[in-house]
Amino acid sequence: MDFSILVETFEKMEKTTSRLMLTDFLVDLFKKTPENIVQQMVYLIQGKLGPDFIGLELGIADKMVIKAIANSSGLKLSDINKIFSKTGDLGKTSEIALENKTQTTLISEDVSVERVYDIFNKISRSSGKGSQMTKIRLISSLLNDSLPNEGKYIVKFLIGNLRLGIADYSLMDALAIAFTDNKSNRAVIEKAYNQISDLGEVANKLYKNGIKSLNTIRIEPLKPVRPMLAERVLNPREALERGNNRVALEYKLDGERAQIHKKKDQVNLYSRSLENITSYYPELKKEFANKIKNNSIILEGEIVPIGAENNQIKPFQELMHRKRKHDIEKNLEKYPVSLFLFDVLYIDGDDVTDQSYLKRRKILENNLSNIETRKIRLIPNKIVSQEREITDYLDTALKIGAEGLMVKQTESVYRAGAREYAWMKLKKEYDADLVDTLDLVIIGALFGKGRRTGKYGALLLAIYDSDTDSFPSVCKVGTGFTDEVLETIYNELKKHILSHKHPRVSATPNMDVWFEPKIVLEIIGSEITLSPLHRAGLNSIKEGYGLAIRFPKFTGKIRSDKLPEQCTTTRELVEMYHEQIKKREIS
Ligand code: ATP
Repeated sequence: MDFSILVETFEKMEKTTSRLMLTDFLVDLFKKTPENIVQQMVYLIQGKLGPDFIGLELGIADKMVIKAIANSSGLKLSDINKIFSKTGDLGKTSEIALENKTQTTLISEDVSVERVYDIFNKISRSSGKGSQMTKIRLISSLLNDSLPNEGKYIVKFLIGNLRLGIADYSLMDALAIAFTDNKSNRAVIEKAYNQISDLGEVANKLYKNGIKSLNTIRIEPLKPVRPMLAERVLNPREALERGNNRVALEYKLDGERAQIHKKKDQVNLYSRSLENITSYYPELKKEFANKIKNNSIILEGEIVPIGAENNQIKPFQELMHRKRKHDIEKNLEKYPVSLFLFDVLYIDGDDVTDQSYLKRRKILENNLSNIETRKIRLIPNKIVSQEREITDYLDTALKIGAEGLMVKQTESVYRAGAREYAWMKLKKEYDADLVDTLDLVIIGALFGKGRRTGKYGALLLAIYDSDTDSFPSVCKVGTGFTDEVLETIYNELKKHILSHKHPRVSATPNMDVWFEPKIVLEIIGSEITLSPLHRAGLNSIKEGYGLAIRFPKFTGKIRSDKLPEQCTTTRELVEMYHEQIKKREIS
């Protein structure tokens, strides 16, 4: 398939802010895609080379790309750098350089989607001595044969800068329409995706074997399962009512969620956002490999920092020391962790997600309680049916440093990717009207003054609206940042700057800078108010008004474990607004 067909679609997509049109363009593209490359096509549209857990990354340094552009265009390095400093965009630089090419290649090969994907793959796999030269050679070979607009997208992809604004949600809509002519089949596609977290593989099966075949997709070791999530409850009474008066209590620990997969000798740990995090926790990998005798298993738990000399749970922030790529071995002893297991999804060839909480807990105990160590433990649990018991257990939880309780329905199954009342989170009662923190994504910024000159003074934040798959603004935040964190966020945001408001962002305030929604912050506020300015929950409480967070403050937690689509949602925000009103009525 000609790469130019993909480029034409990308160009059309870049020009539109309508989500419906984006989907239509994708449908057209899928209809033109041959069966044997639909999987690669899905990855390319997602801006990757495979599912996240495989970790096939390009992220080529600007310098290398500049050299390759020079090789292919015949222009001098200094000329390329000049164009780059003018445009500030390496994709555009490549396009201009190729338009002004001073040399033509005698023998050229077609630029097909297959070839582009194949070369990207080779580049991402080449490492070690001489790999820089190999990469430059591979990029040059591709740019040599490319038209200027093709070169632009090749470069954008290579440097991880392909910002098309397509959510998995739209991609699944497009797959449903293109291959089944029925948008409602998105639900079937999503269910399959939740099991194996690989949309390319799901699309491939859909194209080859039809929609019904997706029902046979099951979870399997070494492919992360999209995690089950919890709903918020206000008090023990609500938890009991929603749990048929008999519930299981567990501590809600505040650390990093991990899914542990073992298949024969291979052990991998995956994060909540489905990335492979094994290398950060080598001691846990070793412990699982040595102790677990089951041939295959998928477990879930929370990794928390603990004291070096005792078993006390330390604040979440301590885990940051373990997320540095260097000094892993050194930090391993200085900042030890414990993994508290709370679920089992698969064991010795059997998917057990359809079994009840109580049955899964039994499997956990039968297979793991005899291998408990300081590093790996089962989370304690307690089955209760009285409000008083919940209040007491919540007190104990808070004393040992937990965030609160997870209250679980005893008969509930594990539903991948679902947020339901099967799992309920009960946190301590806050003095403020707001009963919980919010996770919000950064969508824009204003430059700072005084000490913050040259940095951002305020960040515009958004929630996630799953009905429209968009990010409506909800507040501007400027407090709670240390200089160090502000610097980190500033540098991180550089990668996501846009020349215009992102198509999936809905906001009226004028901003100095707009960003691709990527970075999620945890925010606490004093209350939720009606707002004529912000778009979150527009019209859901009062016609013409959205909702906003009053006195928002950054808690210090950058939620790098959350994707923007996992932010606080419109539904949650509206619910929190009602809870706040209810709370005021009682007091
Ligand atoms: P929050 O925003 O409240 O920190 P969250 O948005 O990260 O939570 P939720 O679905 O609201 O995610 O809460 C579930 C999370 O709580 C899980 O993803 C997991 O990381 C954590 N957790 C801690 N202890 C437990 C437990 N015993 N069982 C299940 N999840 C637990």
